[in-house]
Parts: sequence; C-alpha cells; structure tokens
Amino acid sequence: MTEHAVVIAGGGPTGLMLAGELVLAGVDVAIVERRASQDLTGSRAGGLHSRAIEVLDRRGIADRFLSQGQVFQVVRFHIPLDISDFPTRHNYVLGLGQNHIERILAEWVGELAVTIYRGREVTGFAQGDTGVDVTLSDGQSLRAEYLVGCDGGRSLIRKAAGIEFPGWDPTTSWLIAEVETAEEPKWGFHRDAFGIHAIGRVENAGSARVVLTEQQLRLDREPTLRDVSEALVAVYGTDYGIYSSTWVSRFTDMTRQAAAYRERRVLLAGDAAHVHPPVGGQGFNIGVQDAVNLGWKLAQVVKQTSPESLLDTYHAERHPVAARVLRNTMAQVALRRPDDRTKALGDIVSDLLAMDEPRRRLVWP
Ligand SMILES: Cc1cc2nc3c(=O)[nH]c(=O)nc-3n(C[C@H](O)[C@H](O)[C@H](O)COP(=O)(O)OP(=O)(O)OC[C@H]3O[C@@H](n4cnc5c(N)ncnc54)[C@H](O)[C@@H]3O)c2cc1C
Repeated sequence: MTEHAVVIAGGGPTGLMLAGELVLAGVDVAIVERRASQDLTGSRAGGLHSRAIEVLDRRGIADRFLSQGQVFQVVRFHIPLDISDFPTRHNYVLGLGQNHIERILAEWVGELAVTIYRGREVTGFAQGDTGVDVTLSDGQSLRAEYLVGCDGGRSLIRKAAGIEFPGWDPTTSWLIAEVETAEEPKWGFHRDAFGIHAIGRVENAGSARVVLTEQQLRLDREPTLRDVSEALVAVYGTDYGIYSSTWVSRFTDMTRQAAAYRERRVLLAGDAAHVHPPVGGQGFNIGVQDAVNLGWKLAQVVKQTSPESLLDTYHAERHPVAARVLRNTMAQVALRRPDDRTKALGDIVSDLLAMDEPRRRLVWP
C-alpha cells in the first residue's frame, strides 16, 4: 500500500493550496482528484479578495494572479463599498475567473512536485489509531497519517466521517449558463417580481452569460438548454432565439456548515466544511484561508513538533469565520427579495452603509 503523511481528497482550490502549504513545510502529501485535468466546466469564482491575495503574497505567488486579473477597489454588500482606504497593500479585489485561479495554483503545486492521483475518486476510508486507509475508485489504497476532505460541498469525506452538516435548506434557485442566441439579448441587470436577472457578454466569444432567478425553487434534475429558454421567456418575453449552450448549471441559496472540522484523523476544509450562495464571492476565498490555517498546524503535528491538540485550534479559529460568511450571504440573499418591504429595508441598509463606520465594520470586521 502506498503511504503518504497526508492525503487530500479533492484538488480544487482548497486542496491545491493545502498541498502547497504542506509540501513547503516538508510534508509528504498527495492529492486524489476526480477530474482528469484541472479544466473547469462552467462558471464559478470570479475573483480574489484582499486577504486571499495577502496569503498568496506570503508565498511569493500573488504576482502570478495579479498579472492576469483586473483590479477593482470595491466589494459588494447590497451596494458597492469602497475599500481603497483599507490598511493593506492589496486594498482591492482582483477579478479573475476560477478556471484561471485553479490553473495558476495547479502550476505552482506542479513546481513543488506534489503527487496528484488524477481521474480517480476517494470512495471510502477507514481510520484507526495510527492512520487512515483511503480507498480509491481504481481499487488502489493509500495509507496516510491524516486525510483532509477538500472534496467540495457534497463531500464524501464529511459524510463518511459522520460529521453533521446543519444549516438552511434552499429557498431560491438560479440558472447560470453560457449560451448562443440568434438575436442580441438585453444586456445588463433586470429586476422583476421574481428577483434579479443578468445577461453579460463573454469576452473573446460571441456568446452570452446568463444568470436567471427561477420562478420556483428547482432541484429536481440537472438543468438543460430548454430550461434556460423557458426561463428567458418567463423573464424577458423571448428566448432571443437561443440555439446552443457551452454549459448550463444551477445554484441555490442552500447554507450549511460542518458541525466539526475534525473527526480524529480526518479534517475538512473549503466547501466540504461550508456552503453558501455565491453572493459577495467569498467561498473560494475562505477555502484558501482554511488551507493556510490548517497547513502549518498539520505539518507541525505530522513532524511531531507540536501535540495533536494543535489541530483543534483549526476548528476553533476557522469555524467562526465561515459562520460569519454564512450570516453575511443569508442577509445578502434576503436583501435581494423584490417585494416593497424588502426594498424599504434595502434603502435603509444603503443609507447606513454610506456612512464610514458601518462600511468598515461590514467589509473589514
Ligand atoms: C456560480 C458560482 C459562483 C461563484 N463565485 C464565487 C466568487 O466569485 N468568489 C468566491 O470566492 N467563490 C465563488 N464561488 C464559490 C467557489 O467556487 C467555491 O467556494 C470553491 O470552488 C471551493 O473550492 P473547494 O476546493 O473547497 O471545492 P471545489 O472547488 O468544489 O473542489 C472540490 C474538488 O474535489 C473533487 N472531488 C469531489 N469529490 C471527490 C472525491 N470523492 N475524490 C476525489 N476528488 C473529489 C472535485 O472534482 C473538485 O475538483 C462560486 C460558486 C458558484 C457555484
């Protein structure tokens, strides 16, 4: 059986960052990743916040991201909020798609010579007093001192470890797709009785990116081009002659957090530990920071320079951070509701956030 000090299930951004942290600390780490390549289908994170850029800067790789993205000095919470006065040299957010972010992280991890078992899944594990036996979908087994689930919101590791995932069921779903239309669509944001919708141009392609609030919560099956067509007609009265899609996906406002980030020799990080709607663009960012908090601690414990109890500080420090993000995104979703009472509340929130102290408190807590 192949042995590694740490096995990471999932080579998304959280798993890649954690692997980089561990290998820099001299730990033998391997990633098991379901995808055969780092390519992503569909749209996910659109950028990096200040703190994530700071942690990448500490590793000397921030420039790799900065050179490819676009800088904005505002973050959004109901309204755009200026962050140019924040006490950091990265007082901005960086607009950069998750496919680029993952590619750059994967290149870095490749330079660090991390072992990646690609095109394979972790299908189960058994933990004992001295280690964890990890089973892969190709029948291979890996032995590790610790297993970290960085395997996303539907985390098999979290479920198999019996870690509860309490929270809030979804109330709203959104269709998101990249499509080709015969007619020019109505670009920009559009509000109606069901919520906010948006159609934007896709750079260097003749296609459009659509995000449509669905009239009813839909979770029943994977969405199709026909669903997008019907949703466009419901919102705009026409589907603009939609005829093809590069991808179609759906997300919801489901909000949940793992009750424990550690179960003996198994730990969770990133979306495996917390899921929330993508408003404010925070999921990827806090996953990377989970990885940075956990990395050095796990390295110290593996190298026996610190007691195992150091690992409990990971939950103690990172659980409250994600809990705050969950609260923040639930509030943002509520403020987007289109009824008149929510609009009145939104006007008051806008007035408050126009003042300095509430603005600072919210975006730089
Ligand atoms: C529409 C949308 C927009 C978003 N926008 C933003 C944004 O602007 N900013 C932001 O910060 N975040 C955003 N997010 C959230 C962000 O995409 C996630 O928080 C981020 O991808 C989490 O990274 P992760 O590595 O923890 O999990 P994931 O990215 O889900 O990666 C998990 C990895 O594990 C692999 N895997 C799963 N199961 C197994 C298994 N059993 N064995 C092996 N491998 C496995 C998967 O293939 C995947 O590569 C958005 C999300 C969505 C859906």
